[in-house]
Amino acid sequence: MDHQNVPINPPSCSLLGAVGDTYTNPQNHICSFCRPCRYPSSHGELCGEIINCNTVATHFGEWHGIVDLPRNVRIICQWCGCLKQISRHNFVRHVREKHLCHQRS
Ligand SMILES: [Zn+2]
Ligand SMILES: [Zn+2]
Ligand SMILES: [Zn+2]
Repeated sequence: MDHQNVPINPPSCSLLGAVGDTYTNPQNHICSFCRPCRYPSSHGELCGEIINCNTVATHFGEWHGIVDLPRNVRIICQWCGCLKQISRHNFVRHVREKHLCHQRS
């Protein structure tokens, strides 16, 4: 019998452990603030790469195929639990502001 209780990696939407000062005080955000990417990878697991405001565009282009799409293509943000529809044009900004707590200046 190979049937052990193998955890099947349920998507954890908990912010436990990721909630730092920047989340409770987003105004303290600095653009070198890093956090793990919670976008699903092609294997269905969370990506987990450490990204920040400066690398988000490159990262999503290289790892999640968010690149070379027409500006107005609608993307459903699959960042853990978000599921918001954004146009390609606004996607990077959305990730920065909503998921990296970036404050628009
Ligand atoms: Zn930022
Ligand atoms: Zn990623
Ligand atoms: Zn989102």
